[in-house]
Amino acid sequence: MSETRETVILGSGCAGLTAAIYTARAGLKPLVLEGHEPGGQLSITTLVENFPGWPEGVQGPELIANMKKQAERFGAEFQTAHLKAADLHRHPFRLSTSIGEIDTRSLIVASGASARWLGIESEQKLIGHGVSSCATCDGFFFRGLEIAVVGGGDTAMEEAIFLSRFATKVTVLHRRENFRASKIMLERAIAHPQIVLRTNVIVEEVLGVDQKEVCGVRLKNTATGEEETLHVSGVFLGIGHEPNAKMFHGQIDLDAEGYILTQNNVFTTRNGQIVPGVYACGDVQDRRYRQAITAAGTGCMAALEVEKYLEEHGH
Ligand code: NDP
Repeated sequence: MSETRETVILGSGCAGLTAAIYTARAGLKPLVLEGHEPGGQLSITTLVENFPGWPEGVQGPELIANMKKQAERFGAEFQTAHLKAADLHRHPFRLSTSIGEIDTRSLIVASGASARWLGIESEQKLIGHGVSSCATCDGFFFRGLEIAVVGGGDTAMEEAIFLSRFATKVTVLHRRENFRASKIMLERAIAHPQIVLRTNVIVEEVLGVDQKEVCGVRLKNTATGEEETLHVSGVFLGIGHEPNAKMFHGQIDLDAEGYILTQNNVFTTRNGQIVPGVYACGDVQDRRYRQAITAAGTGCMAALEVEKYLEEHGH
């Protein structure tokens, strides 16, 4: 086992990297553990047009690479590692990772949330080429085009309504007869002149792999077994997100869907009591905003709390 770290940051997306910049600049030599999605969700986006300071927009991977460089300049250390288990009942906290055990006096959990995907090969190949899981990020590129949204919950309805600002027609594709979305959202979508709701259909294939550009989807009707092609230029997945917090079950409080519960944005709790020294930021604790800038904001807050906590404990 190596020496006890002052702080470890779990995750290298926008929240984790912002926390790394702040804690590194404060001289805490943070260790950032990059998981299996280094750079987080931004690293799979294309143009980010709503991050302040980039009037022409910036490519998601470039933004992330710059943040990492900035953190490294101040002395942040990066390791590729997966967290297997965490013991937050002891202090220093102990992390069991794929590169061994790490003890740390403070911990920032910035492990994010992963969009759910259908998991079919054509979909995976066309991510960033017409397939997206983020309407706010990528909707703008579909101005004047026809697109499809997959899902039957509130996210799918919200995405469809948002995307209708750009797309001329949005077809919502839901795998069952009944929608999971709330009545109000569903009614809004039904009433919208540019939105068409289709039920009992599953996406068998996203078309356009050879051209590297989505040109349609092959659908199967689950009731009749019939297949058809729907011509669209974009496919948005609105089938939910999974917070990456399973390994903290029993260590800190999670909500019913597995997001880390926080007080004042970043303070974690156990049985409703604050756990000193453990902070969560970004999408792993934010089901509502899920924006790069809000993740960066809470990353900054978590880092400032770490500084304060370590100072109060004489480190
Ligand atoms: P949900 O779990 O509510 O819905 C996911 C939808 O995707 C379901 O209709 C589900 O189908 C479908 N789905 C899941 N996996 C697949 C798959 N592999 N293939 C095809 N379809 C699939 O997630 P949401 O993200 O929509 O919502 C999460 C929470 O956030 C909810 O509590 C929601 O109310 C809330 N929310 C609220 C908003 C608002 O009020 N403005 C906006 C967005 C979210 P099936 O129904 O068959 O299971």
